[in-house]
Amino acid sequence: MNALVLEAKGRLSLRDFPIHEGLGRHDVRVAIRCVGVCGSDVHYYRHGAIGPFVVREPMILGHEAAGVVLERGSAVTHLAVGDRVCMEPGVPDPHHRTTRLGLYNLDPGVRFWATPPVHGCLRPEVVHPAAFTFRLPDTVSFAEGAMVEPLAVGIHAANKARLRPGDVGVVLGAGPIGMVTALAALAGGCSRVFITDIQAPKLEIAASLGPITPVDVRCQKLAEVVLAATDGWGADVVFDAVGAPHSVQQALEVVCPGGCVVLVGMPGAPVPLDVVAAQVKEVRLESIFRYAHVFPRALALLGSRRIDVRPLLTDRYPFDASIAAFDYASAMRPTSVKVQIDL
Ligand code: ZN
Repeated sequence: MNALVLEAKGRLSLRDFPIHEGLGRHDVRVAIRCVGVCGSDVHYYRHGAIGPFVVREPMILGHEAAGVVLERGSAVTHLAVGDRVCMEPGVPDPHHRTTRLGLYNLDPGVRFWATPPVHGCLRPEVVHPAAFTFRLPDTVSFAEGAMVEPLAVGIHAANKARLRPGDVGVVLGAGPIGMVTALAALAGGCSRVFITDIQAPKLEIAASLGPITPVDVRCQKLAEVVLAATDGWGADVVFDAVGAPHSVQQALEVVCPGGCVVLVGMPGAPVPLDVVAAQVKEVRLESIFRYAHVFPRALALLGSRRIDVRPLLTDRYPFDASIAAFDYASAMRPTSVKVQIDL
């Protein structure tokens, strides 16, 4: 079938790719309708690897997808042919200890789309376990359905923070993950959220999403802004969606005594940690890796419009222009949040 293939670092092609997937009893076959381009897809394209995951053979990209059920296995009862769905891209080993503990995102053997050597979903059809396939509410479009995967990261972060109604939140970084984390923090009970970035257009979009105060850290000091707004107390929860030495330090600076810092962004190299700065506030440090069991919550929030991701959908490309979509996403324009490809 025709697929967007990462042949090697820096080289994409849209070509026929031989892939034959049998339909198991517990699987569905899904026609893909929309796929979001993720930072990780772009990273594999530009660098050929993320940490220990190295692209050694041609690999189909894409892991944020929505589509329509074409066929279902004999044991599938909760989905029907014609259902509009989105898919959770990581399928764990059901027997692994992490999975049995409900921590299936931490299964080292998890098969995750577009993480070598597993093929992604930028192709007309996929076969996927029905247990990791979720029906979209009628009001949720395919494009919004393809946003459930990144939104799940934000919701998982909000869960880890154990938010309470009225909390003041800070999100460091207004990329797609920073934005969905801010939305999840508000839905989870934050009264307001401060969000930082160095690109004015992104901050403008973020400020339109709810009670979100943009902080342009090129010309404003985050600590001053947050302390002034909280009588010098600080933020209850800080989400670091940057993942760099300066952002971790900034998180410890603006979090309140007894507050929580959630490490969301993944640093490219080890980051030093100012342990004393964390200790003198008894900061609760949390970290996340992807998500587990949050797609139903993400879909419920989109379905009720408690969360609206539509302002984040800034750029669309047809499937036959997928390579142009990746080159555009690689350029990381200040006005672009999420690039999506329609099939
Ligand atoms: Zn993603």
